[in-house]
Formats: sequence, structure tokens, C-alpha cells
Amino acid sequence: MKILCIGRNYVDHAKELNNPLPTSPVIFIKPETALIPKNHPFHYPKFTKDLHYEVEIVVRINRVGKHIEKKFAHKYISEIGVGIDFTARDLQSQLKAKGLPWEKAKAWDHSAPISRTFIPFDKIDSLDNIAFSLKKNGKLVQEGNSKDMIFSIEHLISEISSYFTLKIGDLIFTGTPAGVGSVEIGDKLDAYIGDQQLLSLTVH
Ligand code: ZN
Repeated sequence: MKILCIGRNYVDHAKELNNPLPTSPVIFIKPETALIPKNHPFHYPKFTKDLHYEVEIVVRINRVGKHIEKKFAHKYISEIGVGIDFTARDLQSQLKAKGLPWEKAKAWDHSAPISRTFIPFDKIDSLDNIAFSLKKNGKLVQEGNSKDMIFSIEHLISEISSYFTLKIGDLIFTGTPAGVGSVEIGDKLDAYIGDQQLLSLTVH
């Protein structure tokens, strides 16, 4: 399986990092090794001094698809969860300045923790109104809603599938809202969809 990730999908987040607004979805990929094995702790990587959280809605794909039309995109979703697109922001800034790919800053081992629990697609009222949030040490730091996405979930599935064949079990990280920030060893992150806490992680 693979993890497709979307950058700059919320206006307020693109602005906070001084990035221009995209005219088509910004897509990058994390490998399967970016997931955290069950019961494995999350460790602060040695190659960064500025590790950032980015909470995101995560979509799990349940069918093989290529060139999926937007109107059929919802048929490819099995469930919705939440994840953290961990980013070595210092490394990413260096790579961006040189026009180099982001993988060393974003696609490393365990950089994509996801919730153990996902919500079945048929329990989601509307793909365009999913509220989600992140607390750091109990304090709300990020809050978003899929209605504020620049490119909707259906649009993302359609766009991604025109470049990459989607396969069963693939995950899509759909972009982060404003409020990204750094974590330190000992910090606890809790991610929510609505008021359901789906992910909890401590930085070791
Ligand atoms: Zn992200």
C-alpha cells in the first residue's frame, strides 16, 4: 500500500507558511514504512530540531481505481480516520529552498501515524462537513473542517487517480489546516473527528 498526501489544501495553512495557493492539488507520497506498527512508540527523529505536527483527515480506499470521475469518487472510500503528517520543518525549508523533493522531511519511518479507529463511510453524513482537531498536552492547537478544503475529497481522489492507480488499503492524507507547530519529547497529541478521540500519541 501507499500513502498519498496533499499539501496546501487549506487557505489559512498555506498562508501561515507563506506558500502560494495551488491551482491544482499538491501531491506527495509516503511509503508504507511511514506507518507506525501497532504498540510501537513514536520517537523524535535524530535528523531534525524542528519536528512539526499536521493533523489531517485520512481517507482509506477500498477499491482499485484509475481515472476516477469526481462523481464516482465516494464509491472508493471505505472509512475515514485521522492522522498526523509529521514534518521535519527545518529539513523541509532547506529542501524547498533548493527546489529538492520533500521525502527526507516528510516520508521517513513512522512519519504518518494514523488512528487505530476509523469511521465507516456510511456513518459519515457529508464528506464536505467533517470537523477535526488536534490537542497538544490537552490544549486545542488545530481545528479544521473539510468544508474549508481548497480541493474536496472527491476532487482529490479524482486528481490522484489520474496519476497513480489507487489500490485497496491505500490512504490519503487530505491536508492540514492552520495551527501547525512544533513538538518536544514528552508532548502528548490527541486527534479528533468531531468529538470522537481517534488517535493519541506521546513523543518519546
Ligand atoms: Zn500535511
